[in-house]
Amino acid sequence: DTVISRIAAGEVVERPASAVKELVENAIDAGATRIDVEVADGGKSLIRVSDDGCGIPSEDLPLALARHATSKIDGSDLLAIRSFGFRGEALAALGAVGRLTLTSRVMRCDAGATIASAGGTLGAVRPAARGCGTTVELRDLFYATPARLKFLRTDRAEMQAVSDIVRRLAMAEPGIAFTLSQVTDGEARVSFRADAETGDLWGALRGRLGRIMGSDFTENALAIDAEREGLHLGGFAALPTFSRGAATHQYLFVNGRPVRDKLLTGALRAAYSDVLSRDRHPVAALFLSCDPELVDVNVHPAKAEVRFRDPGTARGLVVSGLRHALAEAGH
Ligand code: ADP
Ligand code: MG
Repeated sequence: DTVISRIAAGEVVERPASAVKELVENAIDAGATRIDVEVADGGKSLIRVSDDGCGIPSEDLPLALARHATSKIDGSDLLAIRSFGFRGEALAALGAVGRLTLTSRVMRCDAGATIASAGGTLGAVRPAARGCGTTVELRDLFYATPARLKFLRTDRAEMQAVSDIVRRLAMAEPGIAFTLSQVTDGEARVSFRADAETGDLWGALRGRLGRIMGSDFTENALAIDAEREGLHLGGFAALPTFSRGAATHQYLFVNGRPVRDKLLTGALRAAYSDVLSRDRHPVAALFLSCDPELVDVNVHPAKAEVRFRDPGTARGLVVSGLRHALAEAGH
């Protein structure tokens, strides 16, 4: 029963947005303070993610592209995963479905290095100039698998999905500066920018959420801070008067990871059931955190679902935490 066999690997790369998610999560894990994402043709022809994180030593570059090579777990720790990465397969998978170039430089080294992978075949490590940090460039996603390419949507729809995941990841990391740029004919145009927020956790989170969800949201939101049996719920939830006609402005995170989870969205809806009519949807950005042993993030690597050890407690915390805040505000 190896670590590998205990992990249901799943499909890592379904579309450009899933590649962007893996690359940005790697940059976050690397301790980056700024992450720049560039995309051309909805990510189909180019995805480039650059960070100023810890970098990868040149001798480790081939290893980083090898399947099941991760620097993030030691096997005994599989159920207590704290960082995003734990499968050690994202870069390998990306190198197999596109033309990937990994360029990196670590702080203590005065030179950087680069390695390319196309269709899963690794090239040689060569010297390359860059500042400290890592750039992963992925060109021609699915070029070798036209069948997969056909399942992609329009450039516009894929770009929308990329934009959505970059925003979600940025919400949970207010201390990191993000940009998302669209490259057309070699010209990059910034389509999303969030500067690093400073100050205490709440102030930084409020600033970042205001930047992404609009300051009218943060100005009309209740601060949520509740706890139950080892689970903590934090974030902001809008007053009922700020509800929407669709459930699209609900952002949920578990241990810093953006998730789409029926249990949690159901709990959010239930919390507002007495104060909202059925065709209205609450707006919220909620961060659930707990000991990693209390939640299984391995259920679906690419699908962002989670499984709580005790779903009743998670649901109860969301419902009671929100109802308490609504009641205090007179609702
Ligand atoms: P995982 O994130 O699951 O460990 P990946 O295939 O995504 O696996 O990455 C493989 C390894 O490459 C990581 O464990 C890490 O050591 C290194 N790596 C990948 N991206 C970066 C980055 N942006 N900065 C520093 N190291 C990185
Ligand atoms: Mg990773």
